[in-house]
Amino acid sequence: MSVTTARIDAVQTVAVSLAAHPELVVHGAKGAHDRSDFLLVRVVTDTGVVGYGEVSATPLWSGEDGASAEHFIRTVLAGALIGQPLTPVGRLESSMDRVLAGNPFTKAGVSIALWDAYARALDVPLAVALGGPYRTSVPIKLSLSGDGAGLERAYRAARAAGFSAFKVKVGLGVAGDIDRVAAARALVGEDTLLGVDANGGWTRTQAAAAAVAMSRSGIAFLEQPVAPGDLRGLGDLRGAGMPVVADESVFGTDDLVRVVRADAADVVSVYVGKSGGPGRAAQMGRLAGAFGVDTLIGSNGELGIGAAAQLHVACALPALSAIPSDIIGAFYYTEDILAEPLDSDGRTVRLGDAPGLGVQPRPEITEGFR
Ligand SMILES: [Mg+2]
Repeated sequence: MSVTTARIDAVQTVAVSLAAHPELVVHGAKGAHDRSDFLLVRVVTDTGVVGYGEVSATPLWSGEDGASAEHFIRTVLAGALIGQPLTPVGRLESSMDRVLAGNPFTKAGVSIALWDAYARALDVPLAVALGGPYRTSVPIKLSLSGDGAGLERAYRAARAAGFSAFKVKVGLGVAGDIDRVAAARALVGEDTLLGVDANGGWTRTQAAAAAVAMSRSGIAFLEQPVAPGDLRGLGDLRGAGMPVVADESVFGTDDLVRVVRADAADVVSVYVGKSGGPGRAAQMGRLAGAFGVDTLIGSNGELGIGAAAQLHVACALPALSAIPSDIIGAFYYTEDILAEPLDSDGRTVRLGDAPGLGVQPRPEITEGFR
């Protein structure tokens, strides 16, 4: 059988650089994300099955980018994978860990391609290969940034794209944050889901003051209100009446266990990139669920392949948070890398029946793999 006998023949990459939609550029406590210099990955097996992956890495998040990913994949990771059996994929992930410390988004890009090839070899959607699907439609939301006219432009563009749930970037100074959230609430109306993401930009004192105002604005969740390492401060905010979402506090399973032990969060934002790949992201979502911590799928501005990986993981989890996930893929950019876009209307993104990730890069991108 090709699934059990396939071996890795080549690990190829192509650099891509896409501009974010000018009105949707995220400005947060970690800076602006106006352009993505990402790296696509293609794994080729000796049975002819290929898999695609995406390194959605930014220096601000993990100290990685497309250039560091290309370097490490070509000089370190490829050598650990070529000639090895495709199954089990988890063993290939362990092989990557043995030759390269850290760099979870880089490893995730390769892991996505390995899981895509594995699911294509099985001829099932990746969500099925990961133990699902538990659902075929995932609610999504969009980040709104800026103040005044900028915030309004972002909101109009998001509404025009069909979005109906939002979060606002805060953590840029409490007074301005409170004004921005009040303005956002006035824009979206009383009945629209609206949360805030401080990207760890508040001190404990600022967060305590801001939480009172956020509660008055009917805010649905507080995402990473305080510094990633301050699990005590994070946990203390759980009494403010809104679910606390841990994002920067949780990269891998070890971080998740620390958050669970510290009773620090109600919800964890799991990324395919932070966790090191789709299999590990699904494992984290299940582990969180076993301890009553909800999971949503968070974003680092993924392009179409990364967004497809987010979708399949979201569909492979027994439970997803009622807070919509951040699978925004094509909406965030002025162009897409996919031949056919993901099936999304801004409210949800839907899973198809095609094997693997169910997506293909555009031919002119595929031609660039080396
Ligand atoms: Mg976040």
